[in-house]
Amino acid sequence: MRIGIDLGGTKIEAVALDDDNRERGRRRVPTPRDDYAGTIEAIAGLVTDLERELDLEASVGVGTPGAVSPATGLMKNCNSVWLNGRPLATDLERRLGRPVRLANDANCFALSEARDGAGTGARVVFGVILGTGTGGGLVVDGRILTGPNAIAGEWGHNPLPWPRDDEWPGPACYCGRTGCIETFLSGPGLARDHGGPADDIAARAARGEPAADASLARYEARMARALASVINVVDPDVIVLGGGLSSLARLYERVPRLWSRWVFSDRVDTRLVPPAHGDASGVRGAAWLWEGPSC
Ligand SMILES: [Zn+2]
Repeated sequence: MRIGIDLGGTKIEAVALDDDNRERGRRRVPTPRDDYAGTIEAIAGLVTDLERELDLEASVGVGTPGAVSPATGLMKNCNSVWLNGRPLATDLERRLGRPVRLANDANCFALSEARDGAGTGARVVFGVILGTGTGGGLVVDGRILTGPNAIAGEWGHNPLPWPRDDEWPGPACYCGRTGCIETFLSGPGLARDHGGPADDIAARAARGEPAADASLARYEARMARALASVINVVDPDVIVLGGGLSSLARLYERVPRLWSRWVFSDRVDTRLVPPAHGDASGVRGAAWLWEGPSC
């Protein structure tokens, strides 16, 4: 049995998968924000509850914001900033009394979709989470590509490429820079650019509301440029979008029409696809961290 945990900024979700990848149990609690010790306890509580319910002991994989620094073993790059500088892996292993595998949440998402989701059969899959932040992860031949700095795929804090005059220097980002891709492509980024809540923006655009349509058009143009810069470096077979904004159906048709202009190629065969497992990919990928070699 494998338990996967998705440690998000607002909720922590856990799923137990059996050897046939069937879901045997699922739990969810709010994230204790700004509370590191509380976060450890919340994760331990989910694991304990699932194991008690199923009456067995499981392996534990955790998808986290940011990453474990290979150099120090401490968390870094988390937009849930109270995790940064903390030995989350060590503390979880001590609390749970077993080895625990951690990986970036976008990496877990990409792994889940590459294994048996929207990227099935593709050699190189780039997974993008468009939510509170903008994360990316790469899976090559069914394995997460981590890299010596554990930042492979983390393109959300690259600058928005080929910026127009009114996109430069761009909004301030929590990372300390300005104009990061995340400040444009995240949910809060879209809402700020739109000048108000963007929850029902797709419906309003479909009804012909010009401001909503214009905001989405700007969003699509920016995504096309941001993804073109990824295609130019790693040339993935498939790009899978996840997170709340992945439900914007028009992205899958419009963005590939726009990105050709920025990709250095005579034609672009990369596919942009919605997720097959949606929100469930985070926990599924985390559970699978115990399948095959350590990531
Ligand atoms: Zn940034």
